[in-house]
This record gives sequence, C-alpha cells and structure tokens, in this order.
Amino acid sequence: MHTPLPTRAWIEVHAPALRRNYRRVSAAMGEGAWVMPMVKADGYGLGAVEVVRALEAEAPAGWGVATVAEGAALRGRGVDGPIGVFTPVLAADFPDAVAHRLDVAISDATLLEGLAAVARAEGGSVGVHLEVDTGMGRAGVEIAALDGAADELRRCVALGGLRWVGMFTHLHSADEQGGPGAREQLDALRSAAARIELPSGVQLHAANSAGAFRLGAAAAGARPGIFLYGGSIGSELPPPEPVASIRARVVRVAEVAPGTPLGYGATYRASGPERWATLGIGYGDGLPRILGNRGEVLIAGRRVPIIGRISMDVTVVNISGVPGVEAGNVATLVGRDGREELTLDEVATRAGTISYEILAGLSPRLPRIWTEAE
Ligand SMILES: *Cc1c(COP(=O)(O)O)cnc(C)c1O
Repeated sequence: MHTPLPTRAWIEVHAPALRRNYRRVSAAMGEGAWVMPMVKADGYGLGAVEVVRALEAEAPAGWGVATVAEGAALRGRGVDGPIGVFTPVLAADFPDAVAHRLDVAISDATLLEGLAAVARAEGGSVGVHLEVDTGMGRAGVEIAALDGAADELRRCVALGGLRWVGMFTHLHSADEQGGPGAREQLDALRSAAARIELPSGVQLHAANSAGAFRLGAAAAGARPGIFLYGGSIGSELPPPEPVASIRARVVRVAEVAPGTPLGYGATYRASGPERWATLGIGYGDGLPRILGNRGEVLIAGRRVPIIGRISMDVTVVNISGVPGVEAGNVATLVGRDGREELTLDEVATRAGTISYEILAGLSPRLPRIWTEAE
C-alpha cells in the first residue's frame, strides 16, 4: 500500500539501509559479537520503536538508551529483551528502572546497596553495567576506585536483587584519525577487568560506532549509534549508507523585483528580478536557523541557496535558475534528488555542528515516514 506523503514536510527513513549499516558494524566486531544499538533520543530522532522493529530480526544484544524514561517508553510499546540505560541514574529513578526491567549503568558504587534494596522490595532484580572512566571524564568509576566498586558490587549481588551484566567504558576520540586514546582507553579497561578478575559472563564493551571499526573484536562489545543512522564516523573510516532524508514542499512561488527584501531583519534583498520558493519547513521543525543565507537545498535535482533568515515554520530558497518549480513540488534538505545529494554531514558542517545534533534536533512536527522499499 502506498500511503500519501504529507503535504508540508517530513523525514523519510530507509529501514533496509539502517539494517545494512547495522550488519557492517556487526561484521566489523566479528562473528557473534555483542552489539547493542543505541536508540537514545528517540533513536537519534528517527523513532526508537521503529528502529527496534527494523533491527530486531538481526538479534542484537539489546537496546541502549540514555534515560530511564526512554527505557520505560520502549517497554510501554512492547519492546522486550535487555534495555541498558547508559547515563548515570539518580536513586529517584531506581523504582522505575526496576519496574521496567531496565539494566542501569552505575558510576557510583555507593548507590548499589540502595538499588539492590529497591529491587528486592519489588521482588525483582536489576542488571548493572559498571561504567569505568578511562578518560571521558563525564561518568564512570575512576580506575583508582574500581577495586572497591567491584567489591561492593560483588557484595550486593550476594545480598540479592542485583545482577552484574556488564562493564564498559566510553571512547572520547575514536572518530579522530590517530586520535589520542581509543587504544589506550581500551587497554585501561582491559587491564582493569583483569585486575578485578571480572567474572566470566559479565560482558565487557567499549566501542561506539567509530570504535567498532577502529578496534573491532578487541573492543569486546559495541554500542553503536550514529553510523546506524547514516552519520559519518571520520574521513578515513567507511561511510555509512544514508538512512534519513528530510523533505519539504514548496508552499509558495513568487517573482520578485530587484531590491525586494526578504524575511526577518530583511537580511537578503533580490539583486535583480528573482524567483523565490517558500518551503514548508523552518527551525520549529529542527532545521538549524544558522543555515539562513548559508545553506542549500535540492529542488528539481539542482542545488539552490537558502536566502534570508530561516523562520520558525518556513524557509525561502532562490530558484531563479530553476524553471518549472511550483507549489506542491518537493525540496530536499538532506538526501538525494536525482544526481545531487546533500549528505547529513554536509548539512551539519554548514550549520557548524555534527550529524548527531541535526538528527536529535528534528522536532516532533515532522512525521517520520519509514519505508522498507529499496
Ligand atoms: C551515544 C552513546 C554511544 C553511541 O555513540 P555513537 O558515536 O553514536 O556510535 C555509545 N555509548 C554511549 C555510552 C553513548 O552515550
């Protein structure tokens, strides 16, 4: 069945490309590797539940989120299997984590006893991923404190209510060529694991997307995000397949006289007779406002400049060189149109940011249209 496309603006999400990107991460990690896709921030803006549905046949190790509420929302939508919460949780979140059978990352061993008590009171148990800070500095137990934390975790597991399911670290520079540290961080994690005699059956995991390609099986396990969703992981690592396209319709075409001002602040004026197209998308949809007078879009297979300031709901492009454009035509803000392509990373670079922020900033106003079509 063909569902009609929205009238204004939308995001197309290509499930087969997402799956192929997943398989490439998985292949880089090696046969049978532990791979837990990160679906935080609503699946990097594309729809966490839809990402789960698109990838579950690949049998990943589970799903990674950032917050207890994100994990609870997935449970509410019928997602089964392990869900790991990979930012530090506060004690106030423990009851929900237990109720929704979420595994939590622990950075502070003094929380373990309370977590175990909550789990026992609920008649359940909670999985713990012990995070080790090997240089990211934002979360995790410091290496020097790890022996004590591991002892405390063992003690609480023995009391009941806790399961020790993982130990991990997060890489800070795996996407930078010859960048400091992915190896050093991994070595630090591995030697810490050896020193505390990590029980067999506790999964070690160190790789983000870039780490999976840079370190492979040595990283023991992977929590890939951006590569799955079509974001580049550095110029010398393999590019992902594009997954998301952002489209908007032309809602008005105008022929303007030389000198006609445009938009808030009149930051643009027609330099001659020009033709402008107004697109039904703006910063209220997540299009970075900084792309005003700086970005480009594709229309009728051609690149055209964004002119004037981007408004909350609309954006204007100069279509003077492109004949035949009319209201209802589709413009591409990220993605392909004919032979032309605007990649997610090109748009992010023009906006002075990274692919992650573009995706995570896409607002709920844009319908996510998932397709299985090739
Ligand atoms: C977001 C995140 C990841 C995924 O990183 P990518 O660079 O998107 O692959 C992995 N682990 C943790 C702890 C994260 O917060």
